[in-house]
Amino acid sequence: MAASRKRLALHWWILIAMIAGVLAGLAVVGIAGESGAEFVATWIKPIGTIFLNLLRMIAVPLVLFSLVAGVASLNDTSKLSRIGGKTIGLYLATTAIAIAIGLVLVNVIRPGSRLEPETREAMRSSLVERFGAQATAKVSAANAVDIGQQIVDIVPQNPFAALAQTEMLQIVFFALLLGIGLTRLGQKGAHVASVFETLSDAIIEMVHLIMRIAPLGVFALLCSVVADLGKDSSQLGDLLAALLVYMLTVVAGLAAHLVLVYSVLLKFVAKVPFRSFLRALAPAQLLAFSSSSSAATLPLTIDCVEKNVGVHEEVSSFVLPLGATINMDGTGLYQGVAAVFIATIYGIPLTFGDQLMIVITASLASIGTAAVPGVGLVMLTIVLQQIHVPAEGIALILGVDRPLDMARTVLNVTGDATVATVVAASEGSLDRDALTSGGDTATGSE
Ligand code: ASP
Repeated sequence: MAASRKRLALHWWILIAMIAGVLAGLAVVGIAGESGAEFVATWIKPIGTIFLNLLRMIAVPLVLFSLVAGVASLNDTSKLSRIGGKTIGLYLATTAIAIAIGLVLVNVIRPGSRLEPETREAMRSSLVERFGAQATAKVSAANAVDIGQQIVDIVPQNPFAALAQTEMLQIVFFALLLGIGLTRLGQKGAHVASVFETLSDAIIEMVHLIMRIAPLGVFALLCSVVADLGKDSSQLGDLLAALLVYMLTVVAGLAAHLVLVYSVLLKFVAKVPFRSFLRALAPAQLLAFSSSSSAATLPLTIDCVEKNVGVHEEVSSFVLPLGATINMDGTGLYQGVAAVFIATIYGIPLTFGDQLMIVITASLASIGTAAVPGVGLVMLTIVLQQIHVPAEGIALILGVDRPLDMARTVLNVTGDATVATVVAASEGSLDRDALTSGGDTATGSE
């Protein structure tokens, strides 16, 4: 691990690879058009998929091993329930605030409202024509989701099936109980807990190995996203300009939440310098952007938050997997903005009550959103149905969803890391030296 040579930190390599990926994607599609996009899909995309699969491969064992070890090290179940209460409270509060920020911005900026009624009508019919079939498929996928059943399903019938199917909440539930069981066994349990601790350390080592090919992986991911986007945006034609204000509203909302909520929580509650925190989390944020998946990013989020920010495993191993599954501030915020934008284009006025309904349903919808690309859009249809806006209206924003998905996933991951840091600070489980020593130990300077 000891660095004898001074090397560029990993996040810089990832950033360079991302830019190279975007340029390569643009060049291939610009020069070879449709066949260039096909080339990227056949030869480059699989490299990105292999990289993400490597991370997905270790996410389940990492959560199981580190959570069991983390809980067993607590020796005190009252601390566990305190951590649980603070975490859930912060997750719910930050998500509701995120949606409120999105709603305030979209009501001030009102994207789409300056368009003439005829232009709106033309926009609606042409986008519904182009993306209508995809939209209908997504609406029926969302209608199949049963939030009540999801709550019942937190308790697994078979923990091995939960592990096999990556049911993260079920895994968290089982690991918590197993950790408590081991604690109750005293010395006998401590032996097994230390085995889990060693296994968890071994998986973190695997994260470091996998991250060595991260630049290659993100290059491939970005190159294929750009090649795909090229196709979609050519379908959008001149409507892209009309959609730009909507996109900028979402991005402004995400940035506002980062600055107004996370920086304040970190600075004033956790007493952690915001900039150092961002530097420590940068590799995970860049990966979240490249992959659009908080679930695939989870192993790296855990690594950055533990090694670079200094959050102890007893907090991070519980707060982060839970957050990756249920805490999606970026998704909630985006759903609020998108719902109002779609209602505007349909000419449907929204009352204050409707907007309140958006806060409630978007909070639930973001909790129910799976941490993989594009699901926030699927769950948006539930929000639309609640405020009586046609769910097929998602066709309006489908063509520009991917870049917004990338951006909101960054906020989702940052939100989880922020809450983990705040909870750790309040529990005395934060090693403050990790941040001041410059961070990035685990992710690049070896
Ligand atoms: N891609 C997001 C995530 O994984 C979820 C979404 O908003 O679609 O965090």
